[in-house]
Amino acid sequence: LPGTIVTDVVIVGAGPAGLYQVFQLGLLELRAELVDALPGPGGQVRELYADKPIYDIPALPLCTGHGLVEALVRQMQPFRPGQHWNQQVTEVQPLDEGGFLVLTSAGTRLQARAVVIAAGVGAFLPRRLAVAALMPHEHTQVFHLELPDGLTLAGRHLVIAGGDEMALQQALQLSRSDAASVTLLHRRSVYTASDTQVAQVQAAAAAGRLRLLAGQITGVRTSGESDGSTSEVGTLTAVSVLDAQGEDVHLPLDLLLVCQGLHARLGPLADWGLALERKHLPVDPATMATNVPGIHAIGDVVSYPGKKKLILCGFHEATMAAFAIATHCRGGQAPLLQYTSSSSRLQQLLGVT
Ligand code: FAD
Repeated sequence: LPGTIVTDVVIVGAGPAGLYQVFQLGLLELRAELVDALPGPGGQVRELYADKPIYDIPALPLCTGHGLVEALVRQMQPFRPGQHWNQQVTEVQPLDEGGFLVLTSAGTRLQARAVVIAAGVGAFLPRRLAVAALMPHEHTQVFHLELPDGLTLAGRHLVIAGGDEMALQQALQLSRSDAASVTLLHRRSVYTASDTQVAQVQAAAAAGRLRLLAGQITGVRTSGESDGSTSEVGTLTAVSVLDAQGEDVHLPLDLLLVCQGLHARLGPLADWGLALERKHLPVDPATMATNVPGIHAIGDVVSYPGKKKLILCGFHEATMAAFAIATHCRGGQAPLLQYTSSSSRLQQLLGVT
């Protein structure tokens, strides 16, 4: 189909294992496309401990999470992988002619000879509010974590739902915009943020730039609804909030920004015909092959006897998977093992000669 990106390998997940997978495939002259639900590379390291020190990466006595991700990205750069952020791989379909069609939540279509699942603990996705009636308004009036660039705020009623640092930061920033009103809605009036940030939010509220409301959304109001003969969902105009005193509050709303952090979900992976054992993919550690020929898996998502959930183990697994995939792509002929310190071909691929 037009618009389908054709490559050798699609890598699902750009944590440390997925990033190093690009490098190992590149040395074996296989092209790769990376897909991740996050807005950039790093997986758990990026999301959970970017500023923390790491002491057990071979030959790096000390680096930060951020530093490690930055180095892995630099190392894979000579192989220029396609990079697809903010999208979850939703489907992996085997093709009659061999290989796979990989589809993402953003509509990206990729065709590959092999797939590597480096999904870690699952796709990092924004936590949603448990209000089904908000779902049809996602991407038009309901957004997660940040508002898209270029959205008109002037004269509009904004509600930010959440109580962590990110929610408070967004509320403070938006309170300086030309919106008609800005409300920070959280289920209780205690915030998980620094004292300084809480003081800034309270000052903005005292100055009338920000409304603070403790409560939970119980329903939505829409206008412009059709008579039911079409699937029009109408425009969101307000939400009903049950406040901390048990009162129903009518809250006008044009834009809702949900800032409740991220959670990891294995999600659609369970529907790709892969054997799963307690949320892990059993693999052959010699090839990192799953039960589906052509689909390999590496990193925290796999299980095999003795598996350790460490970054270093993900690097080794990426190497084993690369050799197995290269063998498969060359009709069973195993690639020659070459050293980067002496092979002029590898050095040429790395762009160092
Ligand atoms: P992850 O890092 O989990 O990355 C997986 C990526 O896949 C994610 O970005 C996710 O969004 C994406 N993804 C999943 N499914 C999909 C999908 N369907 N579509 C699109 N994207 C998808 N290890 C060490 O070796 N040393 C340490 O010091 C260390 N410290 C740690 C500290 C903490 C607090 C934690 C939580 C872990 C630590 N670890 C450490 C463990 C280490 O972070 C993991 O072993 C490593 O991140 C696993 O890498 P990965 O690439 O397999 O998966």
